[in-house]
Amino acid sequence: MKKHIMDFTLEELENLVPKKFQAKQIYGWIYQKYITDFQEMSNISKELRQELSEKYYISSMEIINRQVASDGTIKYLFRLQDGRSVETVLIKMRDEKIDKNGDILQQARWTICLSTQVGCKVGCSFCLTAKGGFVRDLTAGEIVEQVVAIKRDINLEHNRKTNIVYMGMGEPLDNLDNLVQAIKIIANQNGLSISPKRQTVSTSGIAPKIDKLGILGLGVNIAISLHAVDDEVRNELIPMNRAFNIQSIIEAIKRYPYDTRKRVMFEYLMIKGVNDSLKDAKKLIKLLQGIKAKINLIYFNPYPGSIYERPNEEDMEKFASYLNSKGLLATIRASRGMDISAACGQLREQHVRISQSS
Ligand code: SF4
Repeated sequence: MKKHIMDFTLEELENLVPKKFQAKQIYGWIYQKYITDFQEMSNISKELRQELSEKYYISSMEIINRQVASDGTIKYLFRLQDGRSVETVLIKMRDEKIDKNGDILQQARWTICLSTQVGCKVGCSFCLTAKGGFVRDLTAGEIVEQVVAIKRDINLEHNRKTNIVYMGMGEPLDNLDNLVQAIKIIANQNGLSISPKRQTVSTSGIAPKIDKLGILGLGVNIAISLHAVDDEVRNELIPMNRAFNIQSIIEAIKRYPYDTRKRVMFEYLMIKGVNDSLKDAKKLIKLLQGIKAKINLIYFNPYPGSIYERPNEEDMEKFASYLNSKGLLATIRASRGMDISAACGQLREQHVRISQSS
């Protein structure tokens, strides 16, 4: 059976081809020129091209839906080889600036939000992905291919700075081996060359796996989806909190070898009447004492049938300014791509619903 060529790190590929340097050439074709057919690898012998195409494939997913929001965010829905689908979001962090002569003054900045599983086991009560349950882990190749397929789709030169966040469908640390493999492949300087410092693993907080990731010393950033300051509320929002409670996550973060020049990101999804009071803000300050943290406050985006509501702007502002006044850096995340339902799982759900009704 053929294997996905994007499953392999450069070192592994070097052992699969007759000469080491050929692995670098292959990496260049796939990750910098985004080719999809081994026959296009013109500096590789005909025999090797033939052998590669008999043993491996380069492309395993196709874009089945693509929605562009007014702020430039693009949401992709990919069909995988087994017919399942995952979504990936390309977020435009800043616009390109061009002067009157047509010269680029400032390049656009992109962040790609990757999925790591089809569905998810964590079962967060506010999440649409959770409603479909867990189906399967993505392979390393399927995680990596999301980046390549998007860069190819928007014609983004390989050397343009891009950030990666593992924050799409699924809990990345629940698919740790494939995640680690993908981080290494995406980081390789002969390929996509996106340094681990530009990659962030966002987790709902599987404390022992935060430790495992830390021990590997990859240099990747970590972000925690905290969303609540006491276990009672967090148990309701993220049932897995019963196994790994807030305190165990905080302790794991304190052990994590993060870059001390940077802040650890805590995502806090604000839900009206659930976790948006000043009392919560006070508890948050206490909880994060001793951690160089940054809080990203996110508006909950209601979807049809959701049991929660979007918080008031005023409450959100009050919450953020209270944190900032106490020295805890807090920002309100602009709801990028809101007009295309950019909360995880929403595009996939729409597509499934449409295909079921057609
Ligand atoms: S929010 Fe993330 S971790 Fe929670 S169920 Fe959804 S995909 Fe899983």
